Amino acid sequence: MSAGDKLFGRLLNRHPPVPQALPEPPSVHGIGLQMHLDAEGRVLHLTGPLRHSLAQQTPTARAPHLLDFLLPHCSLVVEGVPADWLGQNLDLDFYSLSGQPLHLRGWIQPQADTWLLQLLDIGDLLVDRRQSRLREQCQLLAVQIGEQLRLCSLSRLPDVLADQLQSLAQRFHVPCIALALLDEDEQGWQIHQHYAGLDAPRLWQNAQRLGTGLDSLNGSAPQALNPIEHPRLQSTFGNAEGFAVPYHDAQGVAAWLLCGCYAVQQRAPDVGERDWLQFAAALASPLLERLREHRHHLQLERLESLQALLGTGWWEMFSDTGQVQLAPSLASALNLVDTRLPLHDWLDTVHPADREELRSRLQALQDESIPLLLCVRLYRPEAAATPIWYRLQGQALGVGKNRRLVGFMLDISDIKNQEQQAATAHARLDNLIASSPAVIYVQQYVEGALQPTFYSDSLLPLLGWTLADCAGAALVDKVHPEDRDRYFERSRLLLREGSVRVRYRLRDHRGDYHWILDEAKLLRDDLGLPVEAVGLWLDVTEVTLATEQIKQSEERYRILVEDSPAMICRYRPDLTLTFGNRPLATYLECAPEHLPGVNLGSWMSAQQRESFLQRLSQLSPEFPVSTAEINLQLPGREHAWWVWSDRGVFDAHGQLLEIQAVGRDNTEVRRSQQQLTQSAKMATLGEMATGLAHEINQPLNVMRMAIVNVLKRLSIGDVQVDYLTDKLNRIDTQVQRAARVVDHMRVFGRRSEIEQHPFNPAQAIEGTLSLLAEGMRGKGVDLRISETAFEVQVRGHVDQLEQVLINLMVNARDALLGKRESNPEFKPWIAVYAERDEQSVRLWVEDNGGGIDERLLERIFEPFFTTKPVGIGTGLGLSVSYGIVENMGGKLSVRNSTEGARFCIELPVVPADQITR
Ligand code: ADP
Repeated sequence: MSAGDKLFGRLLNRHPPVPQALPEPPSVHGIGLQMHLDAEGRVLHLTGPLRHSLAQQTPTARAPHLLDFLLPHCSLVVEGVPADWLGQNLDLDFYSLSGQPLHLRGWIQPQADTWLLQLLDIGDLLVDRRQSRLREQCQLLAVQIGEQLRLCSLSRLPDVLADQLQSLAQRFHVPCIALALLDEDEQGWQIHQHYAGLDAPRLWQNAQRLGTGLDSLNGSAPQALNPIEHPRLQSTFGNAEGFAVPYHDAQGVAAWLLCGCYAVQQRAPDVGERDWLQFAAALASPLLERLREHRHHLQLERLESLQALLGTGWWEMFSDTGQVQLAPSLASALNLVDTRLPLHDWLDTVHPADREELRSRLQALQDESIPLLLCVRLYRPEAAATPIWYRLQGQALGVGKNRRLVGFMLDISDIKNQEQQAATAHARLDNLIASSPAVIYVQQYVEGALQPTFYSDSLLPLLGWTLADCAGAALVDKVHPEDRDRYFERSRLLLREGSVRVRYRLRDHRGDYHWILDEAKLLRDDLGLPVEAVGLWLDVTEVTLATEQIKQSEERYRILVEDSPAMICRYRPDLTLTFGNRPLATYLECAPEHLPGVNLGSWMSAQQRESFLQRLSQLSPEFPVSTAEINLQLPGREHAWWVWSDRGVFDAHGQLLEIQAVGRDNTEVRRSQQQLTQSAKMATLGEMATGLAHEINQPLNVMRMAIVNVLKRLSIGDVQVDYLTDKLNRIDTQVQRAARVVDHMRVFGRRSEIEQHPFNPAQAIEGTLSLLAEGMRGKGVDLRISETAFEVQVRGHVDQLEQVLINLMVNARDALLGKRESNPEFKPWIAVYAERDEQSVRLWVEDNGGGIDERLLERIFEPFFTTKPVGIGTGLGLSVSYGIVENMGGKLSVRNSTEGARFCIELPVVPADQITR
């Protein structure tokens, strides 16, 4: 059996008996090979069994030389002749018929005349030696590999491993070599690192998953694999021959050294399975150790960072020394310098309020192994605002000498503070519920019925009942008999609709009823089945009664508005009516329901509307009321006069929202006033009759004179055209003058227009003088008229202002003439003058008639007050004048001057931008 065969046998687990060491060979014929040589070393003949295996290198006819049987490298060993070789061990390699060299050891013995070369087969011996040398080398290699892997830095580990695989591959001519480890979840195998020769197929790559095929192999010995015998590994080994060497640790097979495209028997016949196991171990053991160490390191790092993040850490207490050991992260979180410290130092970091409890619980842990679980606050005297909470847990591990007291501390400030906030909020809520005027209740759903299970504390102060008083049917008894149907309907509705809102009366413990607003909601479980109803009772007795009262008072108010003789309405700032009562509707000849939407402005002329809106624009939250006499143009009717009072309703920003108005028809009063004015006017005209007669007489006199003169000329026949023309022209001028007076009288006598217009007051002074001036002068009254022509406008009727002026002047004239009667020397005068400022214009009428008795000053504007004899004075002049001036927005007043009376008509000036005509 060749050495190769033996190895193969071993690889296949067929162990032949270990060959015994050869005994010193006796010079025995019948074993080995005996070569009989002549003195020159030529072979005379051969004996011994091995002679059949010999092959002669170059067969010769004559006796061959020993060298002809030997492999060339042995020629040195047998230099010279046999006599030279005496006493030497001759290790010689012979050609054999099998092709393998035959390793023989022998020695030379002299015979009678020949030499005997006695040779024994030492092939096995050589193989063994080579193998042990090889094993030594292998061992050395394994040690080196292991050392390299063990000593290199972690970062270089993959490279070093790759190098080692490479050196193994090169050393044993392995085309592809790889180390497979269990994958992360330890379910299958994975290539950890591989090396492939330059011309080798790319069988593997790093991190490639191999599945569990390798588990089908015997895990205790290296295995030569071929695709036929190991079909499961076909894919792993690329359908070629391979070789797999396991590495065992305490847990079982932990790694495989894989050689791909590798016929181990042929390529490394001398490397034993132990060597391979050793290589696998040399690679895998340190690698796994390093990886484990690395994982451990990472885990530790993770743990550390986790501890730091959570503010947590372990602790261990040593009862013998009274010390504790803390995780570094924990020590730093607690602001401690040392990680090992006396127990009391550790306890000092805990708030005094929790310290004693912790101490006693630690004691209990120590003495009786009672597990510790406690929440404590840290002691931080400098910043006590928000406490830092730790959860402390501890337990006893092991027994006897191995007993350890360990635990951890976890920062639970967030949770704890939230918990506390929630507790505070809860307490607040409880308090709120208890002190709220509402009663919060819960009714449990039991087979279609709702049974009270909770009432908030406010039930007692509200109704004087407790939960027990309201349980079951007792509640229904407390519902007002009239409202019971409603109460039952409420429960049905709640179950049907899921929520309800209803009012009913509940009796309190004194027997009084309260109006309760009951709002409830049904809560259902995940399946939609009712669980309970949550609701609240609000005592709405006052509100309900108040609403009732408001309703009543609204009704009264409505009746008041409806039945009031006054016209009442509400309208928007654009004058659209939103409401109008019956009197208004009646006045406007329509039904009250047709009023909303109608625009008040449609009954006004453009000018009336403008001044109406102008007046409204002056309403403000401070002065919300404005009263005025307004003038309307009702269709098919004469002018109507309303005394109208508006009250603006404003929003929070002062914006006018609506106007409420009350009005009264003043048309009749107005009409009588007009009539009065008219009669007063007529009276004035009547009074002026003398003056007017004079006014008209004057031109008539002039004309008569002219006519007399013309007739005189005609009678003497002295008529010249120029003379005649001159006289006729004079007559014409006088006719025109008389016509002007008559015209003006006619205009003056007319009724005033309804609407006021802006005009210049100078116009009235002029008109007055045209009527009165001549008459006054005829009576010897001096008229002192100052410049009165202002470019100014007042609003009213020019004829009425004229009437006022006439009254004043006529009154003055009467006073003057009366005075002159008693004193013929007296020189009477009337002065008319005017002055103005921004807002108003004042017209003065002053005389030197001695004035008005101080005691009468107050009364002269009263109607029918006169000091004149019956039939002469009417006592209306001044009172009507007063009314006219007031109607124009002005004021008529009087004072006594040194010589007589001084009347003043003060009128507001119409601003230029309001003059429309
Ligand atoms: P009548 O002229 O018809 O009496 P009035 O109302 O015009 O009525 O005047 C009331 C009274 O006021 C007069 O009767 C007179 O006594 C007094 N009065 C008016 N004007 C003057 C005046 N200029 N000087 C003195 N008294 C006057």
